[in-house]
Amino acid sequence: MDPLKARLWFKFREPVNWAASIAVFAVLFFVLEWALPFWVAFGVALAASFCLHFFYLDHRAIRIKCPYGRCREIIETNTPWICGHKGCKNDNADEFPFIYKCEHCGNQPKAYKCHHCGELIFFTEDEQKTGYAECANYVLKAAVVKKREGHQEMMTNKREVIESKGLDVEIGKLDMRLKGINRTLNPPPPPQAEPKPRMPAPDDELAAFLRQTTGDEDAAEKQRKIVREKYKDDPAECEKQLRLIDEWVTSRLK
Ligand SMILES: [Zn+2]
Ligand SMILES: [Zn+2]
Repeated sequence: MDPLKARLWFKFREPVNWAASIAVFAVLFFVLEWALPFWVAFGVALAASFCLHFFYLDHRAIRIKCPYGRCREIIETNTPWICGHKGCKNDNADEFPFIYKCEHCGNQPKAYKCHHCGELIFFTEDEQKTGYAECANYVLKAAVVKKREGHQEMMTNKREVIESKGLDVEIGKLDMRLKGINRTLNPPPPPQAEPKPRMPAPDDELAAFLRQTTGDEDAAEKQRKIVREKYKDDPAECEKQLRLIDEWVTSRLK
């Protein structure tokens, strides 16, 4: 059946089924009445049309054909489906097929994603591509495949990290070895000894000593003159001061 007519056919199916069942009853009753008693013919015709209606016509799924050239597969509209509006799962697809409406939220899907080729089969001419219905099993299988793919991607990422870190460790080891080789080939220069302080030459040392001694003696002589002048009336104190000056000059020579 043409998908664009499927919705309309679903609406008329119920009265058409009833009309067909009643017609079958009438014809059968009319025929049977010739050979059987009235009530028997009535009962048989009623039972036959009852079975026809409730066990066959009422359960007969509307079949639509995927319109895409490379697919052309038949899809039974009583396939359990997932509502594209709120994600409701419709298991009661005999009463609520995807060409009718969602049993839970009342949404009327405008398209069904073919579970053979994955293309959208539209039920209206506006060809709305959102909120379409999908086969429940197809969605579940797709979810499992997606989960498995996600796991594989995570494992691949982890393997790449391990590989990268392993390479870093190898690089570190090689760096250490390279440093060892460089140290062996180019040993660092031995530490240089502190230069010894240069000893002054004996002549210079003696000259410095004489300069100091002469200086000391000049200062002492100057001080002696001052002391003699200052203590000319006190010979004992004068003697004591002169002795102290001599002691100073002697201590400077040590
Ligand atoms: Zn829904
Ligand atoms: Zn298809």
